Amino acid sequence: MRIDPLIFQAKFPESCRPEQCRSRCCRFGVWADAEEGRTILLNRDLFLPYVRPEAADPSCWFGDTTPDRDCASGIAVETQVVGDACAFFHPGHGCALQKGAIEAGMHEWRFKPRFCVMFPLVLSEGTLTVDEEMKSLWCMKEKNRTHPIAEAVRKEVQFLFGQEMAQVLTRQPRAR
Ligand code: SF4
Repeated sequence: MRIDPLIFQAKFPESCRPEQCRSRCCRFGVWADAEEGRTILLNRDLFLPYVRPEAADPSCWFGDTTPDRDCASGIAVETQVVGDACAFFHPGHGCALQKGAIEAGMHEWRFKPRFCVMFPLVLSEGTLTVDEEMKSLWCMKEKNRTHPIAEAVRKEVQFLFGQEMAQVLTRQPRAR
């Protein structure tokens, strides 16, 4: 995996603030790895209590698939937008995949698509970079971007890529 130098310069709020942004990054769903989608469906009973009523049928959770070399399986699948948000988004507790894992005593990100955990970082054609496309989000407005991005999402980076990568991404700016 290559690292876009932008990661060493980009800023982000100190941390996510769902009460500020109202989880708008989830509004349009996400491309997940097809294997992640399969695992979610196999464990559907964990999430059913936490999805919105209109997303209670698991057959509406996933949509189109497409080849994607940034996915370990080589195939991406979209989480469907149901109503006005991702099938798994719930205004009361956020992501049903995260809530279901926590309530089952597992790691909060056990079932969450990797690309959801990663945001605002994104893997694009083998390069880890910053997703600058959703400029209207609270966290992507310039005035709110006050902290080095890798420090703001250090916990996420460590979960996805390991401690060594988290150190690389956070140490490099001070060495420059
Ligand atoms: S799967 Fe969860 S975190 Fe990802 S877009 Fe949907 S609600 Fe948001």
